[in-house]
Amino acid sequence: MRNFPMTIQQLDELTKTMPTPFILFDEKAIRDNMKKFNKAFSIFPKFREHYAVKAGPNPYLLKILAEEGCGADCSSMPELMLSEMSGMKGDHVIFTSNETPAGEYQLAYKQGNIINLDDITHIDFLKKSLGGKLPETICFRYNPGTEKTGCNAIIGKPEEAKYGLTRAQILEAYSRCKAEGVKHFGLHTMVASNELNPDFFVDTAKLLFELCTEIKEKCGVIIEFVDLGGGIGIPYKPGDKAVDLDYVAKGIRAEYDRVIVPAGLDPLAIYWECGRPITGPYGYLVSKAVHEKHIYREYIALDSCMADFMRPGVYGSYHEISVLGKENEPCDHVYDVVGSLCENSDKFAVQRSLPKIDLGDYVILHDAGAHGRAMGFNYNGKLRCGEVLLRADGTTKVIRRKETIDDLFATLDLDGVKDFQ
Ligand SMILES: *Cc1c(COP(=O)(O)O)cnc(C)c1O
Repeated sequence: MRNFPMTIQQLDELTKTMPTPFILFDEKAIRDNMKKFNKAFSIFPKFREHYAVKAGPNPYLLKILAEEGCGADCSSMPELMLSEMSGMKGDHVIFTSNETPAGEYQLAYKQGNIINLDDITHIDFLKKSLGGKLPETICFRYNPGTEKTGCNAIIGKPEEAKYGLTRAQILEAYSRCKAEGVKHFGLHTMVASNELNPDFFVDTAKLLFELCTEIKEKCGVIIEFVDLGGGIGIPYKPGDKAVDLDYVAKGIRAEYDRVIVPAGLDPLAIYWECGRPITGPYGYLVSKAVHEKHIYREYIALDSCMADFMRPGVYGSYHEISVLGKENEPCDHVYDVVGSLCENSDKFAVQRSLPKIDLGDYVILHDAGAHGRAMGFNYNGKLRCGEVLLRADGTTKVIRRKETIDDLFATLDLDGVKDFQ
C-alpha cells in the first residue's frame, strides 16, 4: 500500500477537532516536489511554473507555492482574487480564460496580470473592455488542430476542442496587436491532460518553438515567453510511471538550442501552468468506514462521497486506497468502496482487493490533492469536506472548514418562504 504521512494516533488526535472527511495536504512533500520541478527547468535562462488555481483553490496552498517561486494560472475572477491575496501578483499571474466576461479582463488588467486571449475576436472585446486600449503584454492560446497528434482521450483532439486560435488566425492576431502598439508577446497552448508520455511535451515545445520563428519572420513579432500549458500526468495506477521532468527539460532544451537560439529568440522564457503534478500526489482524502453491506457485492461506505471527490464517479478514474494500520495484511477482500450520494456512480473504488475493513477504520484515497474537492458540488444536499495542511514541522492546520447547512442555504431567502403562498 502507498505511503501516508500521518499515524493513526496523530489522526485520532486531529479528528477530535476536525472530524473526517477532509483532504490532507502534505506541505513538505509539496515544497520538495516544487524544488525538484524548478531544478529540472533551471537549465533555461528564464523559467516559471504557474500553478493552475482550479486544481487547488486554497490561498494557504497558493502562499506555499508562491514561496517556492510559482505564479498562478487563473481562469475566473475568484481565481484572480485568490492569487492576488496569496502573493502571486502582476505578471506572475496568467489569465487563461475562455468566453470571458469584460469585468474579469478588467480585473486582470488592473492587477497587471498577463492576459492570454483564447480567440481572435477577443482582441476587440478586450480593447473595448479596457476603454479602447490594449495591454502592453498579450499572449495568445494556439490550437494546433490536426498538426498535433497523439493527444489522449481526456483532452481529445485539438481540432475538436473549443479553445484557441488556428494557425492562420494566430499570425493575423500578432500582426494586428503589433500594429496596435502591443509591446510584449507570449504564445500558449494546452493540448494535454494527465499525459504520462514525456516525449509528448517535448513535441509540444518543438511545435511552439517553430511557430515562434514563423511569427518572427511573418509578423516581425518577438515572442518573449512560451507557455506550455498543463497536462503533466501523475501515476495514479500501480505500474504507471511518473513523468521524468529532467528528461522533459533536457528534451525541450535540445529543441530550444536547435530552433530558438539560431532564430535569435534567446532568451525565451519557458512557462508551465500545471496543477495536477504540483499538488495531486500530496493530497489525501481521509475518511472513515461507516457502513458495510453484504448483498450481491461487498460494500464499504465512507463518511465522504463524490461531492467531496468526484473523479472516480465522473471519469471512472482509479485512485489507490489504503486502510491505515492494515498495510501488512493480505488484500483478501473484494469491495466496492462507496459514498452516500443517491447515485450509483458514487464509488471510490469498484471490485477492489483490500484488507478486511472494519467500521471505524481510516480509509485513505490517494492522489486527491488536485482537481479534488475543488470539483465538488452540493447535489443531493451534500456538504463538501474541509482541508487540512500537515505542516513541515508535523503540526496540522485547518485551511478550510467543512461546509455547513447554513452555507448550503445561504443563497435562499428562508424568511421569505414562510410568507410565500
Ligand atoms: C486545467 C488547466 C491547467 C492545469 O491542468 P493540469 O492537468 O492540472 O496540469 C492548465 N492550464 C489550463 C488552461 C487549464 O485549463
